[in-house]
Amino acid sequence: MPRENLNPFKIAQSYFHQAAERLKLDDGMRAILSTPKRAVTVSVPVRMDDGSYQVFIGHRVAYNMARGPAKGGIRFHPDVTLDEVKALASWMTWKCACLDLPFGGGKGGVVVDPHALSIHERERLTRRYTSEILPLIGPDQDIPAPDVYTDPQIMAWIMDTYSMTKGTTSLGVVTGKPLALGGSKGRDKATARGVQFTLREACRGRKMALRGATVAIQGYGNAGSHLATLLHEDGARSVAVSDSRGGVYNTKGLNPAELTAHKKKGESLKTFPRGKAVTNRQLLELPVDILVPAALENQINANNASRVRAKIVAEAANGPTTPMADDILFKRGKIVIPDILANAGGVTVSYFEWVQDFSSFFWDEDEVDRRLEVYMKRAYGSVADTATKFKCSLRGGAYVLAVERVADATRVRGIFP
Ligand code: NAD
Repeated sequence: MPRENLNPFKIAQSYFHQAAERLKLDDGMRAILSTPKRAVTVSVPVRMDDGSYQVFIGHRVAYNMARGPAKGGIRFHPDVTLDEVKALASWMTWKCACLDLPFGGGKGGVVVDPHALSIHERERLTRRYTSEILPLIGPDQDIPAPDVYTDPQIMAWIMDTYSMTKGTTSLGVVTGKPLALGGSKGRDKATARGVQFTLREACRGRKMALRGATVAIQGYGNAGSHLATLLHEDGARSVAVSDSRGGVYNTKGLNPAELTAHKKKGESLKTFPRGKAVTNRQLLELPVDILVPAALENQINANNASRVRAKIVAEAANGPTTPMADDILFKRGKIVIPDILANAGGVTVSYFEWVQDFSSFFWDEDEVDRRLEVYMKRAYGSVADTATKFKCSLRGGAYVLAVERVADATRVRGIFP
């Protein structure tokens, strides 16, 4: 069995260095672009409901700001590490550049299982974490958003903590907010919609119909559950879906509305009655047309890449495929729509939200979706053209496009002083 380094930051750097090699970047530029601009670790003391205190560890990384303020979500998860946050922040940098958004990349995380906290404890944790990183965030500095196990309510607390401290309402400090508080219509579904648009392009390129295609989705949160619904509308058949506890498989297809209703009862998908249970590992190897990892990193790796049977892998999650697996899939003729393209719908509509907040003028959902489609199609086309030019995978093309844009911005700005 091949051994590979599963440290997410090492993986992120290895994808960067492949692009730097293709672009023949000089050593100085490689050093600048492979190092985070800023990484901060804070302790977050929280008064628990029973009167005791616990201290949680939080991080915020601004990886690069050459093209604009840092932009990236906040993750609440027990497995968060500084290297994971650095990796996610670097992927945000390349993602924003790939989509040609005027942002750099950032990310944050707190080492916590939020499901073990009451809503009041979650609020106090969020507000104290925000207060600890407050000097570093802001609408023109570093703009958080939701990620795994954080949601619009948490974004609202971040916005309120920032605004109360500054003494002025600041909508643009965070995106993914509730609609009542300067959120954008369409933001909840935006990540999934972006995946849907890229899947339509990939199917067109491969002369394969999305209608009738079979799909397996690992992870049934914001990205995965909305995607199941949108692909259902496109006539595709989600035959397997899973959450952290396991999944369900039915070759006839699963109804997204019924799955969501089952989840809302607090149940895991593995107990969904209309199908047989599958593990997360088995789900990745099912005979489907399209596989969508929509949970965590390193799910497709050197151990299972040769058994992936899907023709197209659409990375709704960040970093689900390791470099060794990526190589194996490319050699086997699979199309992998890379994370920095496939899941960029979220940050693109976050960008729209930020623009709407600044102008205090809010768009209809149709307009959000229409503009998102333009951004996603344009990015897909540029990535595919770059991949053809460099005779590499879509991931290779996406990285070349993104790294070149950030390198160009760095060159014309110059290094201060
Ligand atoms: P979420 O918290 O809404 O949902 C996460 C889902 O993954 C849940 O269903 C959870 O049960 C499941 N899960 C957790 N651990 C798992 C495991 N080991 N195996 C299988 N499933 C597991 O999170 P989300 O916002 O949907 O994010 C999912 C992925 O998409 C992450 O990689 C995130 O970085 C990425 N992403 C999210 C957004 C966004 O706008 N929310 C944007 C871009 C990328």
